[in-house]
Amino acid sequence: MTRSQPLPTDRPAIPADVEALDAAGVLRLALDALGPERLALSASFGPEDVVLLDLLAGLTERPRVVTLDTGRLPQETHDLIDRLRDHFGVEIEVLVPDPAAVEAMVRERGMNLFYRSSEDRLRCCEVRKVEPLRRALATLDGWVTGLRRDQAPTRARTPKVGLDLEHGLIWKIAPLADWTEAQVWAHIRERGLPYNALHDQGYPSIGCAPCTRAVAPGEDPRSGRWWWERPESRECGLHVDHARLAALAAGGPAATPESER
Ligand code: SF4
Repeated sequence: MTRSQPLPTDRPAIPADVEALDAAGVLRLALDALGPERLALSASFGPEDVVLLDLLAGLTERPRVVTLDTGRLPQETHDLIDRLRDHFGVEIEVLVPDPAAVEAMVRERGMNLFYRSSEDRLRCCEVRKVEPLRRALATLDGWVTGLRRDQAPTRARTPKVGLDLEHGLIWKIAPLADWTEAQVWAHIRERGLPYNALHDQGYPSIGCAPCTRAVAPGEDPRSGRWWWERPESRECGLHVDHARLAALAAGGPAATPESER
């Protein structure tokens, strides 16, 4: 590494030339810097997460993997979680939402509140996804995500390693930031890795069952997520704009706010 970017944290500095590393190099760097106990793959088990688990399993015997069971996932996602568990011989930490918060939310707004309004949809994502993730991240110094820059305009500036100002200045690591969808699938096929059965039924991007639908061939892969909302608002709060947050941390001007996943 040539030089380091100073950061307002006691965690190791992020090397300035991390963007030049390939995906396995980024993961190796993060494992060496943070240690396998304080670094976890945060997986929703899309194809990118399958690739990342494969790469991590090649670098450490006991990769940490956390996932959110929102209570509304498709059966096919649960099936995949168990297949990956068996394939790689790893434990998967399954986080669930606070039952009291879910009970209060559905009592006030109904089972399918997400179709009522954007506010209701974001509240559901907050209760079922964001809060459990926040709990998990509080135990970590870094989290690995499957974000790719070409997935959505809101992800175009995703760095391979950035500081997560939303979650205590831990590292947020996107080793596949510069991969294409074709590269991801080529890796899965070459390695014979398990993947979600819904991908073969027209679902390129899979989240909760009521908020995901199949798309036509050639359609934007993310258009099947929260399809009733405007494209720029189709985020759930798990990911925010690193470049904007880094600029804010440095006292610089805020870039255009990014919508959340
Ligand atoms: Fe709720 Fe839909 Fe968000 Fe899942 S994706 S947490 S069901 S709003």
